[in-house]
This record gives sequence, structure tokens and C-alpha cells, in this order.
Amino acid sequence: LIEISALNKEFRGGIQALRDVDLTVASGEVVVVLGPSGSGKSTLIRCINGLETTTGGSIRVDGQQVNGISQRRWRKVRLNVGMVFQNYALFPHLNVLGNITLAPRRAGIMRRAEAEDEARRLLDMVGLADKETAPVASLSGGQQQRVAICRALAMQPKVLLFDEPTSALDPEMVGEVLAVMKRLAQEGITMICVTHEMGFARSAADRVIFMDQGEIVEMASPDNFFTAPKAERSRRFLELIS
Ligand code: ATP
Ligand code: MG
Repeated sequence: LIEISALNKEFRGGIQALRDVDLTVASGEVVVVLGPSGSGKSTLIRCINGLETTTGGSIRVDGQQVNGISQRRWRKVRLNVGMVFQNYALFPHLNVLGNITLAPRRAGIMRRAEAEDEARRLLDMVGLADKETAPVASLSGGQQQRVAICRALAMQPKVLLFDEPTSALDPEMVGEVLAVMKRLAQEGITMICVTHEMGFARSAADRVIFMDQGEIVEMASPDNFFTAPKAERSRRFLELIS
């Protein structure tokens, strides 16, 4: 479903954030991206979503090139890719239902009634059925992040990208967001997740990739990665966090 080959990203000033990254993700697969700060995890995710331009290589989603293309084409292909950010980035002037239905209505994918039905179904799934008319500012961080997940899912993306979705949350709210993510993983949603939640990586990931200095240093099943990491840099990383 996602084919990344020889992807490079150099920021102005000469920082090589991604070096010849190759990654293929199959439909239904859950990939967790680990690595130290500055290793290029966010940059990788942002390139897949077209939020960063790339300086070499190619990214294909569902067979369609998503990097190095015109704005007009990008606006179309990016509909295949949903994203959940660390800071939810909800629209503060809209209520919960408005946040979830805005994009599908704007994109002309659904009419209002249909978009609202779908939003209610999603809210029910994440345990927020009673919050549809709530202003987003009245919600807790964990609730806002669950709304952000609904908003991303409302576009029926082929893949959902997460960049540290629980890092900004108070500890008692981390679990409710991870539970939703685990459920999506079980339902066969294709996901690439940057997260420091090792429990999630162990239980939900099909594959773990470990990045350092812009490179994928190791790629393994969670079992192999956590019990027998091959690369020296992975071993050091695991020692530091355990
Ligand atoms: P963290 O765990 O702290 O979120 P990360 O693995 O997500 O780190 P990135 O944010 O992808 O790391 O950054 C990779 C490298 O690219 C770093 O050296 C960073 O300083 C650099 N970088 C990221 N964004 C920019 C930017 N907009 N301009 C210049 N350099 C950038
Ligand atoms: Mg990051």
C-alpha cells in the first residue's frame, strides 16, 4: 500500500533528516516507528502526508506518487492519508461534530446528513457518543485526541499516520487513546505510528522500525526487536528506556 524508496530529505542549512529510507507497508499492517529525538521520525511521517517536500526518492500510496507532484494532484492523493498529531489540532471554533464532518463535506465526499451519521458512528466507537455538540475546548486532552482520530477516520483514508499521539496527554488519559488505536489496529486499519509507548508497540505492531540519524537502522517484529535487537544503536536505545 505504501512504497517508499531511497527517500531523502535535506532541510535548508544542510541537515539531512532522512537518508535513503526504504519502507514498504502492506495493507492492514501496523508499523511502529521508534528512535531517539531528532532521528527523523516526524520528518518521515510528514513526508508521507505531503507536509514536507522531499529532496530525493519516491513515496507511493496505493500506487500513486505523493511526493514531488503539483499542488493540484497532491490535494487529491492526500485524501488517502489521514494524520493524527501530538497536539490534536482541532478547529477550536467548531464543536465535536463540526470538527469531524468538515473535511468530508468540504471535499464533497459526503453530504451533511451522511457525514453526521458517519461521525456519530465514529464517536460511538471511541466512547464519545454523548459529546457530539460539545465545544472542543470543553473536552479533556484524551477526549480531544479521540475526536482527532475520528476526524482523520471520517475521510476514510487508506492509511492513518500518528505522530506521538499520546505524548501531550496526562498519564491517566494515555490509556483511553491507546485503546482506540489498538482497536483500529485490530480492525485492519493500516497505520504508521511514531510513539514512545512500548506497550502499544509490543501488543499492536506487526513491525517495528528503529531510526537513528535519518536512517532505518533496524526493522523487525516487535518480539524480535524487544527481546533480541540486532543493531548496536537499537540495543542502546532499549537500555536507555528500560
Ligand atoms: P523527536 O523525537 O524529538 O520528535 P524526530 O525523530 O521526530 O524527533 P525530526 O523532527 O524528524 O525528528 O527531525 C529530524 C532532523 O531534522 C533533526 O535534526 C531536526 O533538527 C531537523 N529538522 C526537523 N524539522 C526541521 C525544519 N523545519 N527545519 C530544519 N531542520 C529541521
Ligand atoms: Mg518528532
